[in-house]
Amino acid sequence: MNIHEYQAKALFEKFGVPVPKGAPAKTPAEIDAALAQLPEGPTMVKSQIHAGGRGKGTFTDGFKGGVKFCKTKADAKELAGKMLGNTLVTAQTGPTGRKVQTVYFTVASDIKKEYYLAILLDRATSRPVIVASTEGGVEIEKVAHETPEKITKVFVDPGYGLADFQVRELTSQLGLAGVEAKNAAKLIRALFKCFWETDAAMVEVNPLITTPTGEVLALDAKVSFDDNALFRHPEIVALRDLNEEDPKEIEASKFALSYIALDGNIACLVNGAGLAMSTMDIIKHFGGTPANFLDVGGGASKEQVGAAFKIILGDPNVKGILVNIFGGIMDCNVIAQGIVEAVKEVGLTLPLVVRLEGNNVAAGKATLAASGLSLVSGDTMSDAAQKIVKLVAA
Ligand code: GDP
Ligand code: MG
Repeated sequence: MNIHEYQAKALFEKFGVPVPKGAPAKTPAEIDAALAQLPEGPTMVKSQIHAGGRGKGTFTDGFKGGVKFCKTKADAKELAGKMLGNTLVTAQTGPTGRKVQTVYFTVASDIKKEYYLAILLDRATSRPVIVASTEGGVEIEKVAHETPEKITKVFVDPGYGLADFQVRELTSQLGLAGVEAKNAAKLIRALFKCFWETDAAMVEVNPLITTPTGEVLALDAKVSFDDNALFRHPEIVALRDLNEEDPKEIEASKFALSYIALDGNIACLVNGAGLAMSTMDIIKHFGGTPANFLDVGGGASKEQVGAAFKIILGDPNVKGILVNIFGGIMDCNVIAQGIVEAVKEVGLTLPLVVRLEGNNVAAGKATLAASGLSLVSGDTMSDAAQKIVKLVAA
């Protein structure tokens, strides 16, 4: 789960990570009250969307920059009015962009230098890794690719925690000394505590800045959480913004279905993540393109199969459906009944190929055959995949 910059900064503050003072506004009517919380003077206006690269982004009406520096609060108010409700396209949003439903005002900081700082989970070592670089404010992927020597990584032993020498290594690699090093060390410790205690998957500060007076501040904040740990953090779940998520994926999560929308036109409905992956592969292999990843789980119910069909049909790109079910835990006949009910209920007109295998498969196939529905049966995975690819191409 991702949260907005303004929410991430409020979280940072709780853990003692210094951030510029700020206030969000969700409607034009809230702009004055938000600005009233900030002192008169240079102010930043920042579009709040779940994507980075906002500063270099462009709105679909041609207005440039999703993050803007303003000399006065009056200027900030005017620019906020142009951003709210407008759609921002950045390198990370894809061409359709994201509608800005919240703007965030912050006191504009004086930047001495920009740095990069992030903490994430390293899969290879199964440890948190702190990534830092003197090249802040720009795309870190580019730095990693072109000048990897400018990136420092520190791996944290989860049993021992973040050690003092590791913090010193980070501040010295960033070239910081004196009061800057001291402030940066404090910030790194606080950020690590935030990462650890919230079960975050990633906290990223780009840029981290030093100011002419020796302050060290998180100027941007991107935080994502491990979904599997959210049950421990109701206060974080409350920060979820459904406006930023695919409505089909939200619907799927209500029925405990794992659904990810893709760009193709052949929908797949499968039980088990591994089988779902191989089903997508075999569709590709025979020249088709999958419209989604959809795992209804090992013990899917009729209701889940029905919900899955509705979600699939909510995607206008879908031109055919491949159901590939292995009855290991579940009974193929239960699934077959679920499919028949769902197809009748939604009035399916698209080609449908069903491949069932496993527990009670003969009864399942008989149920499908007796249904009178115009679905095509596939005997093996490759047979089923070839059939749906052919039907969709026709
Ligand atoms: P992003 O483009 O989505 O990563 O948004 P950021 O919050 O990182 O802002 C983009 C850029 O705007 C930063 O890299 C800074 O260079 C600049 N910026 C953001 N906040 C301030 C500020 O308070 N003062 C100044 N001078 N520049 C800022
Ligand atoms: Mg940034």
